[in-house]
Amino acid sequence: MSAKPTLIGITPSWEDKRWVLNRTYVSAVRQAGGLPVILPVSTDPDEAERLVVEIDGLLLTGGSDVDPYFYGEEPDPRLDMCWPERDRSEIELTRRVVAAGKPLLAICRGHQLLNVAAGGTLHQELEPAVNRIQHRQKTVASCVTHSVQLFEGSILRQIAQTDRLRVNSLHHQAVKAVAEGFRVSAMAPDGVIEAIESERHCFAVGVQWHPEETADHDDCSKQLFRAFVLACRQEKEEAAP
Ligand code: MN
Repeated sequence: MSAKPTLIGITPSWEDKRWVLNRTYVSAVRQAGGLPVILPVSTDPDEAERLVVEIDGLLLTGGSDVDPYFYGEEPDPRLDMCWPERDRSEIELTRRVVAAGKPLLAICRGHQLLNVAAGGTLHQELEPAVNRIQHRQKTVASCVTHSVQLFEGSILRQIAQTDRLRVNSLHHQAVKAVAEGFRVSAMAPDGVIEAIESERHCFAVGVQWHPEETADHDDCSKQLFRAFVLACRQEKEEAAP
């Protein structure tokens, strides 16, 4: 095993004049054996490239809506706050991380952004008439509220060792057209896409739920972060001269 730490770059949220990050992302990475490092929002391609060279994996976090401009749509009246500079920065980082063959775990908005960065689209608002499950749960984030089905052959199912999971749900948007080269690995009973993963890349997994909020007490959430950090470590060792 490499004596060098496994550096996991974590993207912060944009809030007006500051960048913020829920502590749970950091503790979930730590618990899984990774060394967390919070990345700046960076729209300078040169800086993005230098950051990607340094990190062993990328954790895309939750937050505000992705600007529909980035998937070729006009804003729906129900669209929430967008911070296009954050979107641009994360799309840039995501593409570079994927090109570098480094692992990536994408959570909630991050999962949606991963799909957009790879060429997919989003539902700007879930329709209550179609999506019959509460996806913006009113209880605390550490509580799981709805079930998802995990599809055969997916990394997620391999990690969970089961075909059904209960997850938390704090979103009002969802993946619409899945990006080319990606597959759906989990779905809610109402048809909402709850997870995607790359068919080509070693580990590019997006989950619509928030495993970082349950990683201190839920085994499956813990395992997901462990599998991610392990993939980062393995890729790093394989790439080492
Ligand atoms: Mn959901």
